[in-house]
Amino acid sequence: MTKKHGKHHHPGDGEKNPAKASQDETSAETSPAMIGGHVPTVPKPAPGIVMVEPGKTVSLAAIDANADGGFEKGEAKELLQAERARIQVLQERLYAEHKRSLLVVFQAIDTGGKDGTIRNVFEGVNPQGCRVWSFKVPSAAELDQDFLWRYHLHTPGRGMIGVFNRSHYEDVLVVRVKDLVPEPVWRERYGLINDFERLLTASGTTVIKFFLHISKDEQKERLEARIAEPDKHWKFDPGDLIERKSWDAYQKAFEDALSRCSTPYAPWLVVPANRKWYRNLVVARTIADTLEAMNPEFPEAKEGIAGLKVED
Ligand code: AMP
Ligand code: MG
Repeated sequence: MTKKHGKHHHPGDGEKNPAKASQDETSAETSPAMIGGHVPTVPKPAPGIVMVEPGKTVSLAAIDANADGGFEKGEAKELLQAERARIQVLQERLYAEHKRSLLVVFQAIDTGGKDGTIRNVFEGVNPQGCRVWSFKVPSAAELDQDFLWRYHLHTPGRGMIGVFNRSHYEDVLVVRVKDLVPEPVWRERYGLINDFERLLTASGTTVIKFFLHISKDEQKERLEARIAEPDKHWKFDPGDLIERKSWDAYQKAFEDALSRCSTPYAPWLVVPANRKWYRNLVVARTIADTLEAMNPEFPEAKEGIAGLKVED
């Protein structure tokens, strides 16, 4: 984002340079060059996070869900506080600038830690500038629309951080595993999702996509905890035990989604998530680093403010 963008000018309506138009269209899949008339800020994964390289196939079995980056739990918790403070400061600037936005997507298998990550990472962020949406089984009205409609309704406007707890990816995950639509329908969706995210990017939204990667053993422990502890009963869905039987099919569906929808403008980030404190730290650090790279700026003061006197 350059300073030449005036008050009523935003990344979504950048004037098109005809000489570059054809280059823009072809370069989008290979480099984070111009999209929508500006060079978007792409996510900056923290060390320890595995970025799925666009065009490559990811193998989840090859990524260690137990990784802890060599941190101690106490140390990681302290560092998390520092990352939260960075997010809070940068969020205020993003909100004040009112030009761009951030969409943070969380996907994971049941018990993967989406709720806990959101609670820990966004603690202390000004609620006025941040909205969380949790997507459940679509309603009949939602199913009457195209599959992206309900997600598009909740993408963050200028200045906002939007958090998706589950997302448009459910439509190539649970929908695929449970055979809710015919295969040719969900197969086409990968490309439609890439186009959707490109549209958001073109309009000034940076899209960060986290896949919280836990092991099958870890899921067993977390489900057992939800059964054993009365305070966790509300989170336990007996259906999760049935879904667990489809563990392999889900891993395969995640691998396909991550491989087909990792783009230079919105790459998939795999987070080792067996250790909650490590997961929280690397997610928070990625968000802080990405916001810092966006470098939102306070708008210029209205002329003549300095030296104004407030009358009694
Ligand atoms: P939870 O996030 O645990 O509250 O559960 C939400 C449920 O909604 C999960 O079982 C998801 O698989 C399901 N869900 C979310 N999006 C969709 C979708 N597009 N189609 C079908 N089921 C969905
Ligand atoms: Mg659930």
